[in-house]
Amino acid sequence: MENPFQKEKQQCLLCRLKIIPDYKNVKLLSQFQSPYTGRIYGKHITGLCETQQKLVEAEIVKAQSAGLMATYLKEPCYLKDPKLFDADNPIRPHRF
Ligand SMILES: [Zn+2]
Repeated sequence: MENPFQKEKQQCLLCRLKIIPDYKNVKLLSQFQSPYTGRIYGKHITGLCETQQKLVEAEIVKAQSAGLMATYLKEPCYLKDPKLFDADNPIRPHRF
């Protein structure tokens, strides 16, 4: 019999929705980019697992070198996208 009290496995956003980040999916990748500096948010803010975070970072770099994404700012057309996470309230507090 299955344990009814077993906690549901903690999964990050992308694992839960079974999304594989892709450099052509600029709309998704833009949501991991800061609107002020264009930097990629850290793992403690995005709440992604190690694997997905690395994938997202790699795909963003790929998209940027392919000219699909801006480097120092967020593409203005994505600024009003719904937020996947709150950058001001990190899921895991910063380690510094
Ligand atoms: Zn994950």
